[in-house]
Amino acid sequence: MEMKLESILLPGVDAQRPIVIAGPCSAESEEQVLETARGLASKGIKIFRAGIWKPRTKPGGFEGIGVPGLAWLKKVKEETGMYVMTEVATKDHVFEALKAGVDMLWIGARTTVNPFAVQEIADALKGVDIPVLVKNPVNPDLELWIGAFERLYGAGLRRLAAIHRGFSSYDKKIYRNLPLWHIPIELRRRMPSLPIFCDPSHMGGTRELVAPLSQQAMDLSFDGLMIESHCNPDNALSDAKQQITPDVLDYVLNVLVIRESNQTTENLTALRRQIDGIDEQLLELLAKRMRISREIGTYKKEHSMPILQSPRYNEILENRSSMGKQMDLSPEFVKSILREIHEESVRQQMIIMNDCEKEE
Ligand code: PEP
Ligand code: MN
Repeated sequence: MEMKLESILLPGVDAQRPIVIAGPCSAESEEQVLETARGLASKGIKIFRAGIWKPRTKPGGFEGIGVPGLAWLKKVKEETGMYVMTEVATKDHVFEALKAGVDMLWIGARTTVNPFAVQEIADALKGVDIPVLVKNPVNPDLELWIGAFERLYGAGLRRLAAIHRGFSSYDKKIYRNLPLWHIPIELRRRMPSLPIFCDPSHMGGTRELVAPLSQQAMDLSFDGLMIESHCNPDNALSDAKQQITPDVLDYVLNVLVIRESNQTTENLTALRRQIDGIDEQLLELLAKRMRISREIGTYKKEHSMPILQSPRYNEILENRSSMGKQMDLSPEFVKSILREIHEESVRQQMIIMNDCEKEE
């Protein structure tokens, strides 16, 4: 579907990269909202975010202040002149947010995965001219992400943008949500007029990762950043580890290097980021494979089985090299990699057999 999009920038917001959206994960109290907003406004931030309804993984946490918080956002607008933005996940959220004069909306990662929910939001927004930013679904499914834009577009919304906040994964990792940069890069190729924001806060999950991830997003020509900022991050009721104060945010933005490079180096950077993303996935998979190897080692130990099972090893080498051949990989290359991996697996299992190192 070819989409004719319009700008998400409301009057007074500069089109310069990065367009910044900042504010707390959750609106917690009137004081916290206003203090954070004042801090951000004093640093020149024009768009204020705050979650009013929070999708939490488990019940019992802070699930958002709900409707009363919308009055605080109104105060932010009146006092600071910033535009205010919140997350909507149901039609009721949409009606309440619109009634309260919220200027921009975003759809969260847990909502984008659900076409029923996205359609419900789209239907509730029929005839309303408001910018809507859509976070990627939690699972790395580009079609689902694009589908959400199509549903909104179908309902008449034209001011659309994407927020890349990374993708969840099961194993141990540096990032709370894996960047998998090749996915937003492919989104850009498929929808060139769609602005793309990065949310380094939910991607990294820690304060330390906000600056480097923001820089990477800028190097990849992202249009904007959505960053969680709280006047007192350590005491935040949600996502405390990843929120930064308005002062720190200002510092992070000031040290960003914005390269307005020509097309050639931009393409090269994009390709390199794809390689970075793939290496990241390779390492995750290797870590997962080693973990399973160790489990096998424990099993073998408990059942007094030898580590080396030659028929199995040969079968792996043969089967994988013919699989690789179908993917245009040379059999020698595949075999040599698998030999290395197998050697490391054996080494790990020996450690378990000899009990000379503690298991993780
Ligand atoms: C948020 O922005 O606070 C949020 C809940 O993010 P996500 O949907 O990316 O998890
Ligand atoms: Mn959050």
